[in-house]
Amino acid sequence: MSQQGYVATPPYSQPQPGIGLSPPHYGHYGDPSHTASPTGMMKPAGPLGVTATGGMLPPGPPPPGPHQFGQNGAHAASHPQQRFPGPPPVNSVASSYVPYQPSAQSSYPSPMSTSSVTQLGSQLSAMQINSYGSSMASPSQGPPGPLSATSLQTPPRPPQPSILLPGSQVLPPPPATLNGPGASPLLPPMYRPDGLSGPAPPNSQYQPPPLPGQALGARYPPQQANSGPQMAGAQLSYPGGFPGGPAQLAGPPQPQKKLDPDSVPSPIQVIENDRASRGGQVYATNTRGQIPPLVTTDCIIQDQGNASPRFIRCTTYCFPCTSDMAKQAQIPLAAVIKPFATIPSNESPLYLVNHGESGPVRCNRCKAYMCPFMQFIEGGRRYQCGFCNCVNDVPPFYFQHLDHIGRRLDHYEKPELSLGSYEYVATLDYCRKNKPPNPPAFIFMIDVSYSNIKNGLVKLICEELKTMLEKLPKIRVGFITYNKVLHFFNVKSNLAQPQMMVVTDVGEVFVPLLDGFLVNYQESQSVIHNLLDQIPDMFADSNENETVFAPVIQAGMEALKAADCPGKLFIFHSSLPTAEAPGKLKNRDDKKLVNTDKEKILFQPQTNVYDSLAKDCVAHGCSVTLFLFPSQYVDVASLGLVPQLTGGTLYKYNNFQMHLDRQQFLNDLRNDIEKKIGFDAIMRVRTSTGFRATDFFGGILMNNTTDVEMAAIDCDKAVTVEFKHDDKLSEDTGALIQCAVLYTTISGQRRLRIHNLGLNCSSQLADLYKSCETDALINFFAKSAFKAVLHQPLKVIREILVNQTAHMLACYRKNCASPSAASQLILPDSMKVLPVYMNCLLKNCVLLSRPEISTDERAYQRQLVMAMGVADSQLFFYPQLLPIHTLDVKSTMLPAAVRCSESRLSEEGIFLLANGLHMFLWLGVSSPPELIQGIFNVPSFAHINTDMTLLPEVGNPYSQQLRMIMGIIQQKRPYSMKLTIVKQREQPEMVFRQFLVEDKGLYGGSSYVDFLCCVHKEICQLLN
Ligand SMILES: [Zn+2]
Repeated sequence: MSQQGYVATPPYSQPQPGIGLSPPHYGHYGDPSHTASPTGMMKPAGPLGVTATGGMLPPGPPPPGPHQFGQNGAHAASHPQQRFPGPPPVNSVASSYVPYQPSAQSSYPSPMSTSSVTQLGSQLSAMQINSYGSSMASPSQGPPGPLSATSLQTPPRPPQPSILLPGSQVLPPPPATLNGPGASPLLPPMYRPDGLSGPAPPNSQYQPPPLPGQALGARYPPQQANSGPQMAGAQLSYPGGFPGGPAQLAGPPQPQKKLDPDSVPSPIQVIENDRASRGGQVYATNTRGQIPPLVTTDCIIQDQGNASPRFIRCTTYCFPCTSDMAKQAQIPLAAVIKPFATIPSNESPLYLVNHGESGPVRCNRCKAYMCPFMQFIEGGRRYQCGFCNCVNDVPPFYFQHLDHIGRRLDHYEKPELSLGSYEYVATLDYCRKNKPPNPPAFIFMIDVSYSNIKNGLVKLICEELKTMLEKLPKIRVGFITYNKVLHFFNVKSNLAQPQMMVVTDVGEVFVPLLDGFLVNYQESQSVIHNLLDQIPDMFADSNENETVFAPVIQAGMEALKAADCPGKLFIFHSSLPTAEAPGKLKNRDDKKLVNTDKEKILFQPQTNVYDSLAKDCVAHGCSVTLFLFPSQYVDVASLGLVPQLTGGTLYKYNNFQMHLDRQQFLNDLRNDIEKKIGFDAIMRVRTSTGFRATDFFGGILMNNTTDVEMAAIDCDKAVTVEFKHDDKLSEDTGALIQCAVLYTTISGQRRLRIHNLGLNCSSQLADLYKSCETDALINFFAKSAFKAVLHQPLKVIREILVNQTAHMLACYRKNCASPSAASQLILPDSMKVLPVYMNCLLKNCVLLSRPEISTDERAYQRQLVMAMGVADSQLFFYPQLLPIHTLDVKSTMLPAAVRCSESRLSEEGIFLLANGLHMFLWLGVSSPPELIQGIFNVPSFAHINTDMTLLPEVGNPYSQQLRMIMGIIQQKRPYSMKLTIVKQREQPEMVFRQFLVEDKGLYGGSSYVDFLCCVHKEICQLLN
């Protein structure tokens, strides 16, 4: 990359003696690509011990880069006057705008106050639930105080959170322990997962719980399957799975009690409470460290000096002042940055600042861009950088007088002085080879092997491209088809017919034609249409089954390179590339590796060809989006690597069937082509002194420790950045973050997109806890864990997640909560739903070591999550479940969601579930006939044909309303969700039930309530 002016390294990121030594840290998995930590170091070293070391990046030398670029010369007079009207909201509140106001967070309840604390208590043998506050009280909940209605006559026992209910069944451990078989991360070495030597109940005969409805028969694995209200004893828990302290060993067998799910914190309640208090309102970003509404709350965001939460969300909006405090709490300090997030039409788009040849004003020392954190002094002649404190001269062209409070008179006229986010037009210093970039190009690459021709896919793609290309911005396009050889097409506008050139040497792909390959669509429209009409027939008689893959990417990249432009490859591929060529793959789907230390191999590419290909692609601004249509194992871990590392997207349609999957694919293709996207991007995250970005997670590539390189980045992709202290932070100045993305627009303009965010700092742990955002925490934990699966045994990763969860909560309990019985579980208000979400993450198929789950599916989900923003990861891990039978057809409001548990379903109900990838319409056996009629236009439940992925358009309010709701849920989501119709008690219900994430998992993974008990036990151990 030649954007040298951009990669100049600030002095503060250089190694500093004494502060860069890898501090012990939780939540890091010792990525060997960054450190040389032996895996043995990852083992927990006791309850409060340090799990992981080596997570910190070695403070290596700064990336090379001259510092002379990007500085502001004295080009004053030539600078054109800014035409920046200023956003209305800023002007209208100008008088009250106090950019550096320390956090005025009076609206957030102090965690010290019992009103905001949920306490889950477990005393003696029964767990007691105490909730002191209206915020958590659920309707079914009783009065505050011990709810131990169960007067269980068991001998006094040491505190431990087993859940016991009188009269319920005593069950031995279920076949799966908490996090998958063999995982047993929670068992101290002296206990065996089978409970034989542990405190398991004596009854060792496994009895599956009763299943309601004999029709179910043996289809269902032994687990709770009741669709109505839960029955006592119907739920397996984990006796022996979560042993308490040694004292428990002496205890008698315990009967089981089931905790009332209504009494544990509800994600739905938390979401609804935030919606009720902040939904539909204007959220102005004028205060440092303020906590935005939840990602599930719709509101209007006004940029008043800090980046919108659409662009940046943080795990906490108040950083601890010292690294000791950070280690004590073990709350990850991270930001999830989605630099190209879509801004709704009722919010201001980003302003574009153009300083002409002068370029952006930047700090001489740290190269931070002019922003609201720069403090002007000496009558406006100089400014102090908010990031490195360097005092800089104001370039003459940029001079402006200050008002009586020291603010520039043009404060509200310049986006870079008053807004959190804005763009700069970049000068030639920011361009490759110091010349303006060529506009990007799109190349469409279609697998024309036998099966794709046979099932009609090639014809579908070609037909669709004809209409889709019409909507493209003015962009050059090219076409390649391939099986085991490559076919390039000359579609130059003056040709009567397209010309095909075959490249059979796939070992060293070259581009056989330059002129006529990448063409302007409008100019070559007739030749292109001609080509797209011919392609399906051209290969109609081909029997070629074998394909290549790496040479396809290579060819696309070489074509872009030859045209000297960035771009995007759209590859439509179906099979394992077994033809003799670089990147040739063999079927290595070895289920025997599951749940062993070698499981990580399944997530790694099987050859390094794809890794080096990805690097080449990024170096040339070539992004790869892959549409996969596998009918068997295709090695997603290998095929998906280039799309992931180049900021592309991977779409996967298992066993593609034209009549069922067509619409989903076409929606994805259309959406992807029209997406807002930046090409050839480098992102740099700068911070104020005392902390810095140390780790990055996402569809990115890093050649040094600071520059995040992306061949492209679109509106749905997020990069999660972790921060570490390297000095003390000040409560006065806070912690400031500036994210700058240098990129090329679709029309070929080089720009800088700047996002600034100010966070608070505090030396009080309570401030840290009350400023946390669980949705962002889960995004961070998911990405760091999914990154770690490449290098670490999954068991270790699950252990770290559970340990860290317990540790964060134990630290709160110990330092922030008011005194209470040791057996009570106390959750900070901001982390009420951390356990349930964490359990969802642990149960995700990536982390769950089960041979039943397809290796490709696990690799696929892993890749998707790595690039997700907070809204998408929230929905992905905790799906939305809507009771459709409660629809008010006169209202445009969505029905209130219910918790993802089978106990919330009812035979008389119809429920819609969505997680961002899948959508299910679940129909209870006694669904109201009028609804069935309204939605499906059939007389009864039995008449419903579940073999459909689109609902019929029936001209009545139920049908219209339901389809509207599905449209709303689909909106703003990066993947088109395929609809599956599920009838209660029929086979496909098993798939649906995997998404009822509060229940015990189909393939293992504990229920929410069980996990909560487990975490509570861990906390108790930590506190002892
Ligand atoms: Zn600076």
